[in-house]
Amino acid sequence: LVRLEGISKSFGKAVALHEMDLTISPGEFVTFLGPSGCGKSTTLRILGGFEKPDTGRIILSGEDVTALPPERRHINMVFQDYALFPHMTVAQNMSFGLELKGMSKSAIKARLDELMAFLELTPFADRYPSQLSGGQRQRVALARALAPDPDLLLLDEPLGALDAKLRHQVQLELKSIQRRTHKAFFFVTHDQEEALTMSDRIVVMNAGRIEQDGTPEDLYFRPASRFVAEFVGDTN
Ligand code: ATP
Ligand code: MG
Repeated sequence: LVRLEGISKSFGKAVALHEMDLTISPGEFVTFLGPSGCGKSTTLRILGGFEKPDTGRIILSGEDVTALPPERRHINMVFQDYALFPHMTVAQNMSFGLELKGMSKSAIKARLDELMAFLELTPFADRYPSQLSGGQRQRVALARALAPDPDLLLLDEPLGALDAKLRHQVQLELKSIQRRTHKAFFFVTHDQEEALTMSDRIVVMNAGRIEQDGTPEDLYFRPASRFVAEFVGDTN
């Protein structure tokens, strides 16, 4: 579905990504795990088209999209703080991107009805983000990102702001949404336990380099390096 080939990125003298190669297949739930500052958000921003790599290519469904802007890629992103528009209702937040794409009013309505039913947001359609709980807001952000039917959804620590109980509930929900939609999810976290329970595959990153790319079992039982063993084993 998507392939990163030799992606490098520096900010001044600081190298954020070193010649990174990565592939994500259709329908896969891939988690991107690593300590703060290792380059997770930078990778997502490059994939989403919000940042240009210094070197390398991004191939999406066989097409080189490296030079294409975000709206021309079939990729969507949920940012860490959800970034809902506070002055718009749930329905308006969801339709905004579809209007930008030039979808007709009736097609937008049909898509919203479908997604709201699917994510159990129908009762909240006319509420503003400030009138929702953290978990509900998170679902709206997800609904908004799913609305244009992207092939790949990038999720940058979408659960960071939730308390432990809600976080667990939303983890299960996210996983179930991913299964039902058959979308590829690329999910960022620095929580090892979350990564181990949710993913088909985990990519462990350290200082701009991939340390290991494998199934949760691979990482847990056959860590490729001391870093992976210590980072993944540390589930306190
Ligand atoms: P966290 O878990 O804290 O979100 P991260 O893995 O997402 O960390 P990135 O945001 O990708 O880390 O940052 C990788 C490195 O690049 C860091 O050293 C960061 O300071 C640096 N960096 C990121 N964006 C910029 C920028 N716009 N200007 C300068 N340096 C940047
Ligand atoms: Mg980050």
